[in-house]
Amino acid sequence: MSRYELSDILDTNRLELGPAGEARGSGHWRYAMDEDRLGWLVLDCRDKRVNTISQAVFRELAEQLDKVEQDLPKALVIRSAKPAGFAAGADIAMLSEAGSDDFETLLGEAHGVLDRLEGLSCPTIAVVHGPALGAGYEIALACDWRVAIDGATFGLPEVRLGLHPGLGGTFRLPRLIDPLAAMTLMLTGSSAHTRKAKKLGIADLVTLERHLPAAIAAVLRGDVKRKNGSFKQRAFELAAARNLAAGRMRRETQAKAPKEHYPAPHALIDLWAEHGGDTKAMQKAEIASFARLLQSTTCRNLLRVFSLRQTLKDAAKGADGIKTVHVVGAGIMGAEIAGWVARQGKRVTLSDPDKAALGRAVATARAICEDGHLNSLETRDALDRLMPDPFGYGAARADLVIEAGPEKPEIKQKIFADLAATMKTGAILATNTSSLQLERFVDRVPAKARFAGLHFFNPVRKVPLVEVISHSRTDKQTRERLLAFCDGIGRLPVALKDSPGFLVNRALMPYLMEALLLMEEGVDKEVIDTAATRFGMPMGPIVLADQVGLDICLDVAQSMQEALPESIATIPARLREKVEAGETGRKAGRGFYDWSEGTPKPASDASPPEDIEDRLILPMIDACASCLRLGIVGSEEETDAAMIFATGFAPFRGGPMHYARTRGHAEIATALERLKGRHGERFTPDPYWRNGH
Ligand code: NAD
Repeated sequence: MSRYELSDILDTNRLELGPAGEARGSGHWRYAMDEDRLGWLVLDCRDKRVNTISQAVFRELAEQLDKVEQDLPKALVIRSAKPAGFAAGADIAMLSEAGSDDFETLLGEAHGVLDRLEGLSCPTIAVVHGPALGAGYEIALACDWRVAIDGATFGLPEVRLGLHPGLGGTFRLPRLIDPLAAMTLMLTGSSAHTRKAKKLGIADLVTLERHLPAAIAAVLRGDVKRKNGSFKQRAFELAAARNLAAGRMRRETQAKAPKEHYPAPHALIDLWAEHGGDTKAMQKAEIASFARLLQSTTCRNLLRVFSLRQTLKDAAKGADGIKTVHVVGAGIMGAEIAGWVARQGKRVTLSDPDKAALGRAVATARAICEDGHLNSLETRDALDRLMPDPFGYGAARADLVIEAGPEKPEIKQKIFADLAATMKTGAILATNTSSLQLERFVDRVPAKARFAGLHFFNPVRKVPLVEVISHSRTDKQTRERLLAFCDGIGRLPVALKDSPGFLVNRALMPYLMEALLLMEEGVDKEVIDTAATRFGMPMGPIVLADQVGLDICLDVAQSMQEALPESIATIPARLREKVEAGETGRKAGRGFYDWSEGTPKPASDASPPEDIEDRLILPMIDACASCLRLGIVGSEEETDAAMIFATGFAPFRGGPMHYARTRGHAEIATALERLKGRHGERFTPDPYWRNGH
């Protein structure tokens, strides 16, 4: 074997039969030396599509290092055999099951293995394609060099799980690149895509797969220069400099992720400030801090959120049989849906009587591709898959038609009637309506059994949840195909039964209306929004209403009020006034807030009404409980997942139903009764709380 390309490495047989080496693999790793005495250590986690780093991976890495040490190669190259990328991070199941004491010992062992890798007396090169995240990236960090195959992504996203890096990332990354940039990456959990990774010094070299042998040769010849030993790195070896910077980091972090809700980033800053100049001390402290954080409520809840994602994905198995999609209506939603679906590999036609809307939709699709770091060829291919179709001819060929016309029943009815004449047999018709019940359209659609709701959220590229709604005659196959379709386009589907506002809007509306009522009572909008963000919502309800669009809020509130007068008792007059004045929120540049200079970030120190948090949050949770009792949603897990992945509901609380369980159902009912006594019937607790669920 004189050359290794990904295809060779993927081919287990070839590796095992290589002429110069015995590529015995113990399960997760394979090792072979080629005729140039390059050692190839390949990570290929058994029975997994994506590499995840577990205790077994480290134990087996130790065994492989024994072999490497016994017959030292000219250089050791570490890479992944998975087409999906280098590694996705630590095995979440292992983290979820871990107890504190044992885990500290396990972490210590894993550190020992990475220290051995780092200490090898031959050069070590990590070759990264696709994502190298968390523990996977920390393995690459223990190598001397990192070669990125174009398209690679590096990141330490542990803070998103209520943790910080635990396998040396906290000291190896700040040692490799500008320490402030390293801290920013770890504190935000954001990833560096290839170009940024190169610029920051995370990747020493970027190459294409076919040029990899030349890239490795260049590294070994000493032709690749690294920008290290910067002034900043030396400066931050001094505790005084670190303390100064840490003070600022603490203030900024507290504003975005308060310590009482998100302890991990604060623990990371403490680690760095205290031990940043001393690798050994930092290593010891990192292990202890990681094991401590792993037992925190925040971390347990965030790990649960991670598994909720899997719960939704698991419900969406099988083939969707959908190759071509036709979208009707190229407004805000139609354009986003069409662009996203094309980006994810399906052929899409898009119709709208307004030609300018079609033009804007193509620009939206391009922006979606660019946001997702698609290169120019991939973007071109995605745009080729999206065909503006002013006369709607595509509807006749599509396997799925998504209706995203205006939220006016008469317009939707006309669209459905036209589609009945054109859609092919077997095709599914789905509406993206946010507030109209499907039942009212059932008699007008081409095929009742293949009519359903596919409720995407705005913007589709950012909000992963899709509500998949069945009315009383939607057949099982249609539901399953739509769930699989959502999974196939990288969105998270939740199966729901047709009802007013479905799940997410039904829960959100009482929350938004209560916020507006508080405003009418004279409470400052900033005070209301601050109360919600203190609870852990990603933004306050008034900012959210502005962002969604006040006209849309009014539409949804009105149709929910018709159907559920007990839940939306009054629609505050200020909402109507704003809509009539054309001040519809972000899209108009002004709503309750002024949006001309970007997203408002209200913060207030004024003391809010004592019961404000319950007044805002409990109606939302109570609506979730109603949906569960009525069988609109299948389980508390799905409810939590839907609310987190659609609205960002305080993830560290594990979702609305998990929050209710933690607080106790009886206590939730009592708190609602208290609010009912003070503020009115709309707070009447749902029977769910008393029924011993
Ligand atoms: P929009 O007003 O931005 O777009 C509607 C588009 O439909 C316009 O481009 C219009 O020209 C076009 N149209 C009008 N008559 C048509 C016809 N007969 N055939 C085809 N197209 C026609 O509206 P939107 O915000 O994109 O909402 C579309 C749907 O999605 C609505 O049902 C809405 O409730 C739902 N929705 C909206 C949001 C949101 O935040 N905007 C979120 C989720 C769901």
